[in-house]
Amino acid sequence: MAESMFAVRKLKAERGLSVCEIPRPTPGPEDVLVYVEAASLCGTDLHIWNWDEWSQRRIKPPLTLGHEFCGTIVAVGEKVRTAVVGDYVSAESHVTCGMCYQCRTGQAHMCPHTQILGVDREGAFANYVVVPEKVIWQNNRAKLPPEIATLQEPFGNAVFSTMNQDLSGQSVLVLGCGPIGLFTIGICKAVGAKAVFASDVHPFRIQLATKMGATQVFNPKDHSPSDGEIVDAIVQANGGYGVDVVLEMSGAPSAITTAFRVVRNGGTVILFGIPSKPVEIDVAENMIFKNLTVLALNGRRIFDTWYKTRWLLEGGVINLRPLITKTIELEEINDAMAMLSRGDACKIVVLPNHGRPADIPGGQRARMPDPNITGAPVHR
Ligand SMILES: [Zn+2]
Ligand SMILES: [Zn+2]
Repeated sequence: MAESMFAVRKLKAERGLSVCEIPRPTPGPEDVLVYVEAASLCGTDLHIWNWDEWSQRRIKPPLTLGHEFCGTIVAVGEKVRTAVVGDYVSAESHVTCGMCYQCRTGQAHMCPHTQILGVDREGAFANYVVVPEKVIWQNNRAKLPPEIATLQEPFGNAVFSTMNQDLSGQSVLVLGCGPIGLFTIGICKAVGAKAVFASDVHPFRIQLATKMGATQVFNPKDHSPSDGEIVDAIVQANGGYGVDVVLEMSGAPSAITTAFRVVRNGGTVILFGIPSKPVEIDVAENMIFKNLTVLALNGRRIFDTWYKTRWLLEGGVINLRPLITKTIELEEINDAMAMLSRGDACKIVVLPNHGRPADIPGGQRARMPDPNITGAPVHR
């Protein structure tokens, strides 16, 4: 009989998740089998846990969740070309087709045939996960411990939306201080923004925004019912001017309205947070007459964003440790989801193998030289 493993699964079309014993997967010819050292919980997992309208349309149970992870390769398919057993890796969660217009023009993150780990195919909240070699990303174990390495996938979202424009010397406002908004604050500081204002309603998140280096954090609740007041307060904090660049990371309709009102004439608004329904905007007053640049962004550039992420995290430019609220075992998944849904946590990291390294004969490789970096030796 095949060896078994434990996995966090959506078994039925209803709220909640189960920890199940299932057969350990075997890699196909172009796949690798990864022993999962750390995986992290995301808003997407929360939607699936809740079994909301989106997940009812998208998810086909039974399914193992989890798309943010890192671990050690313990087996490779016969057609795998560069990865070897012992490599310490993460993965791009979007498995793209490689053949469509988007894939062939450097926009694979918009591939219409994308399969997302833990959404459309078996995920990483398990002792092991199988992924195609083409999505793996080599990590440096000495510089990136598992609980940080797993955060590269969501952190990449913030890197993509934030580093899409030059922020050096600019005043920036980050609306929404969930994990992506908090990552964004750190990135804005790292790339030399002049001032980084932030806004959120949760005291816990406001505290973390300050820890990540926000210049000043505003709570819309202090300014209700008139949301004009928060706009005035931010403009005042910015020396009487509208903000150069607004990054809208919450998806809340009121925050989207604030974004367009608080940005200066000729400024930039980046829309990244996802509203759950259509939002009304005064296009004439708040966009055209302000001569705005408005960008609607989604995902990460594969793999451009990963290289920038590597610089920021392996290079020690940004410390994500304050954003890890808790590490848990697989069995604690439902409590952790409840904690996330209350807004009492930022990132929760699950250790499917109790934080123990993989048992590999001959020990683990410290790091495979990345054949994609010019000048690095190709190891075989
Ligand atoms: Zn995610
Ligand atoms: Zn494609």
